[in-house]
Amino acid sequence: MTTVIDEGVERVKCNLCISDSIKLLYDFKRYKIVKCKKCGLVYLNPRPSSQELAKLYDKDYFGGNSINRDITRQELINKLKSSRVVEGMLQVKKVKQNGKLLDIGCGLGFFLKSAEKERYECFGLEISEYSSNYARKKLGLNVKTGTLESVEYGKEEFDVITLWQSLEHHPNPKYSLEKIHYMLKKNGLLFIELPNFNCLASKWRGKRWEGLSIPTHFYHFTAKTIGELLWKAGFEVVKINYHPLGIISRVLKSVEGSNNIFKLKEILGMVFPGWNMMIIAKKCIKGEKEEVG
Ligand SMILES: [Zn+2]
Repeated sequence: MTTVIDEGVERVKCNLCISDSIKLLYDFKRYKIVKCKKCGLVYLNPRPSSQELAKLYDKDYFGGNSINRDITRQELINKLKSSRVVEGMLQVKKVKQNGKLLDIGCGLGFFLKSAEKERYECFGLEISEYSSNYARKKLGLNVKTGTLESVEYGKEEFDVITLWQSLEHHPNPKYSLEKIHYMLKKNGLLFIELPNFNCLASKWRGKRWEGLSIPTHFYHFTAKTIGELLWKAGFEVVKINYHPLGIISRVLKSVEGSNNIFKLKEILGMVFPGWNMMIIAKKCIKGEKEEVG
């Protein structure tokens, strides 16, 4: 499925429909953003090869300047109160109040630390050696270093799996979702947050939209393309929340702290489809049937 075209760069086919018929959207010289003519999936092609990728996720990517010092108690409290951690936790708690939770692409582990306080049984997976070490040694979390390609988990092991700003980095998201399907228990839940390629900021800023994150974001999903990929992997989309425009988000952040604010954000997000989408999906019967066959 991948063709190495020169050192550090590879060309790929569409992850959703396997077509290689593409339309150029944005040209970044070494890397290009293309749209599949058949299914509409937007992706980076050519993109960094897997060897090149390992170099990209060194300690600097996760703010490695703090590697040699301990995080203070106050800093940890601030991180746990950050809107991303709080909002993610709130969404998970609404539908599943306990159980075994795996955070894929857990970074330094702040979401998992928060989930641990809420009495979930927590596990993490992280590609970066630096970040996974930090999560294990400094936060005391159960985190493996690697990717879904390199680390094995048991069948139907987890109640909840979360991917916060992670799936768009995966080289083969279809494979990732199929593996997650295998790892989730019956009626298990999957939470995905990622940038929304269809948002207004993306349309206004075009090639300069920060959500493109060249070259670490490999896929630029819309509600339609992520929905189709999830369906193919055996999931049913339960809900998609759109976070509102950045500026509205910033205003709301200043008065953050109550559940009502999150409700307001959800409503505004429907009117102004913003930067990020949060997708809640359930392992469905279709996938289970396929798995047996
Ligand atoms: Zn396609």
